[in-house]
Order: sequence, then C-alpha cells, then structure tokens
Amino acid sequence: MLKMMIGFFKDFWKYKVQVKKQDAWIKKFAKQKNYALNPSWMMSTNLEIWLSELEATFGKRYCPCFEPSADAELNKKMLCPCEFIEDEIKEYGTCHCALFGSSNLDKAGWKASSKRLMGEYQVPLNIKNGVLDTRGMPMDPRRNLPIPDAMHQLKATLNSYTNKTLKMIVATEQEVLNLEKIASYRGYGFEKQAKEEYFEVTLNFDACPTQGSDASCGN
Ligand code: SF4
Repeated sequence: MLKMMIGFFKDFWKYKVQVKKQDAWIKKFAKQKNYALNPSWMMSTNLEIWLSELEATFGKRYCPCFEPSADAELNKKMLCPCEFIEDEIKEYGTCHCALFGSSNLDKAGWKASSKRLMGEYQVPLNIKNGVLDTRGMPMDPRRNLPIPDAMHQLKATLNSYTNKTLKMIVATEQEVLNLEKIASYRGYGFEKQAKEEYFEVTLNFDACPTQGSDASCGN
C-alpha cells in the first residue's frame, strides 16, 4: 500500500502539467454534458495520470482502463471520452472507469461503482517464479477486451515486484506491441518470442535505479 502511495505521488509529480490539462478538459466536458465527476480526488487524479501516461506512451488519449486493441475502429471509440459513456452510465451510474457519472448519482452510487471497478482490477494474478501469465481474464462485454489487460497486470505486478526481469505470457501480438511501447517509454529492456500458442515477452529493469516499478526509469 505504501509503495502504491509513493508511486501515485511520484507519477502525480511527473505528469503534473499534463494532469492539469486533463483536468481542464474533463471539467469542461462534464459541464457541457451535465455529468458529475468522481468526488474522490485520489481516484480522479489517478485516472488523469493514467490518461497522461497513455497519451505519452501511445500518442492518443486512450481510456485509462484499457490498452489499445488491434481494431482501429474500436480504438477510435475508446478515446476518452469514449463512445460507451452514456450506455455505461445507464448501467452503473458512471462510465466504466468511474470518472464521469450521472449528475444525480449519490455518494453510495459513486462508492458502489468505484467498488465494482476495483473488484474488476484487484484480482489474483497468475505469477509464478518471475513469469506472469496474463491470459484467461474475463472480457468486457462492450469492448471485448480483457479486464485486467496485460498492461494493467504489469502495473499491478510492479507495485510489489523487486526482481530485475519479468517474463510475461500474452495471447496476442497487439499485447506484445503495446508492451514494447511501454518498455520503450519507460526505459525497460525488451525481448519477445513467438511460441506456438502464445507470445513471451521479457522485460528487463536493469536500467532502473531502484526497481521495476519506478515509472521515471529511463525518462
Ligand atoms: S470509460 Fe470513462 S474514463 Fe474510460 S474512456 Fe470512457 S469516459 Fe473516459
């Protein structure tokens, strides 16, 4: 938990300019659409940090809850604010990431949607002897993408990972491409290998001053 908090404030400092910009358009958009914003500063700021990091890594403002897919049309729909927002507000009271919500959502409603989201991402990871197998996670029904995806599983792993290398098993070539971009942006060593039924990626954190989760590594 302490490591997560330290990571949050480090990222907040690193992206402070971008977070301010995200905050400005988010507030403007919410006002135009009569949406409310997540009342938890920590949660909304964390989503703004993710938006900033995804924009820096992939060049576009992708939804903070999903990594880019191989489907260009779907990727367009996933740019924040995404095309699923209305539909998801009808279902959960908030968008999938619980950033925007209905203007009449009460405190209990925000809490319930945030809890739903945490429940989706705080799942046991399949990691053994330095190998993280990212396959087999449930699929989001609207985007047909895994939750949590390989990128979020990597982030969760690095919160408490101290080894200098991590092997990841992923199901698709797109996930390999995404991990390659993440590695390049963060300064991790990167190797990939296509196996018969999956892809294997090896990340090397040797260049990082302390350990793998240091988001400022190489930047
Ligand atoms: S789910 Fe919410 S945060 Fe994610 S892209 Fe849609 S509007 Fe943005």
